[in-house]
Amino acid sequence: MKVGAIVLAAGKGSRMKAGINKQFLEIQEKPILYYSLNVFERNSNIDFIVVVCSPEEKLIIKDCIIDKYGFKKVKMLVAGGKERKDSVFNGLKVMEGVDVVLIHDGARPFINNRIIDEGIEHTLKFNCCACGVMPVDTIKVVDGERLSKYTPKRSDLIAVQTPQCFKYDLIRECHEKVNSQGIEVTDDTSVVEYFGNKVYLYEGSYNNIKITTPKDMIMAKEIYKNLFTK
Ligand code: C5P
Repeated sequence: MKVGAIVLAAGKGSRMKAGINKQFLEIQEKPILYYSLNVFERNSNIDFIVVVCSPEEKLIIKDCIIDKYGFKKVKMLVAGGKERKDSVFNGLKVMEGVDVVLIHDGARPFINNRIIDEGIEHTLKFNCCACGVMPVDTIKVVDGERLSKYTPKRSDLIAVQTPQCFKYDLIRECHEKVNSQGIEVTDDTSVVEYFGNKVYLYEGSYNNIKITTPKDMIMAKEIYKNLFTK
């Protein structure tokens, strides 16, 4: 069985207002993107990694992350697209002979081996899965006037993280169909759901945050301290 990972780093990260791509911001003197690549590189179930990035940043990612830290499993750096789903599709297109693919946001540095291994295991059983956590806040569904319609039970809700994991043929085929039919989707699980597939949601981690705004950097540094220096 061959397992590939797509690590996405082609977003603009404009909500970070950092002036540079957020993937290059540093936690403990290493760029955010280093952390998830390092976990995939060292996980024995992962055969290879494709990094999706903006064309202008290919060289810097190669020199300052992949070569510098000796990430041998990164076989390809491919150019991203306008939307996240376009970047994913560009990553999928360069893969060959793959059984399972894990799609991960490069902006989530604190993925771990348990999340990777369980993602592969559940994909073999359910064809597709994603990790997530129960939301900490109560979530309300509102109408157009912001008046509450109802309050779902928190235990019925899952805030979805990445990796999102799929049998390769399934995600490739569904992506091709959404592209050719111009269907709007928010993430990869929605791509397969659109065609009637059910996604298994397994336990992610509250540490597996996506770094989006400057506040998330403060949080990320705290998580780093808790995970690696205690
Ligand atoms: O923008 P957001 O934080 O939701 O992006 C999630 C992940 O998808 C990030 O790692 C980002 O780099 C990636 N992305 C991408 N191509 C895009 C948009 C986002 O690779 N066009």
